[in-house]
Amino acid sequence: MTQMFSSRGPTHQPRHDGVNTAAHRGDPYRDAAKLSGPAVCPDCQASYHQGRWTWDPAGAGATPHRCPACERSRDGLPAGVLTLSGVFLAGHCEEIMRLVNNTEARIRAERPLERLIAIDTGGSGAGGAADMAGGPLELSFTGTHITRAVGKAIEAAYGGSLEAPYSDEGTVLRSRWHRD
Ligand SMILES: [Zn+2]
Repeated sequence: MTQMFSSRGPTHQPRHDGVNTAAHRGDPYRDAAKLSGPAVCPDCQASYHQGRWTWDPAGAGATPHRCPACERSRDGLPAGVLTLSGVFLAGHCEEIMRLVNNTEARIRAERPLERLIAIDTGGSGAGGAADMAGGPLELSFTGTHITRAVGKAIEAAYGGSLEAPYSDEGTVLRSRWHRD
């Protein structure tokens, strides 16, 4: 996964020679998506205006351009992954998922590029509560802010232990929550 990300990286590298915005922002998708004029994402309808993606309706003359969050989702390359594990999860899966979805919706409303991409049950098959018993759940996100925020929301509500190390720019933030 990491290698795949690296090999895909260059096509999304910013080209600000001498001005290292990537080090500051830490997200090549966002830097590559700096546009010269107003735009609208054909997939999610987010609009781009004066350097920002928002949920405001696009103005006349906005050109179609896929937003960085939809690009990440299509590529299957998250900016952050939060792994949930421990026996507590099996008995509280529904309420934890409700908290995840509520937190995601709140953050996405404020920051259009911060979204949940997928919930992976670890490849054990059909999905559903039975598969989640004991097995880790992997939540992938388009941004690091939301990855941390969802982890913190779960920790605040249910305790357990949360690991959210700082990640180097351009690498995937790997956060973990666990409760026995
Ligand atoms: Zn989009």
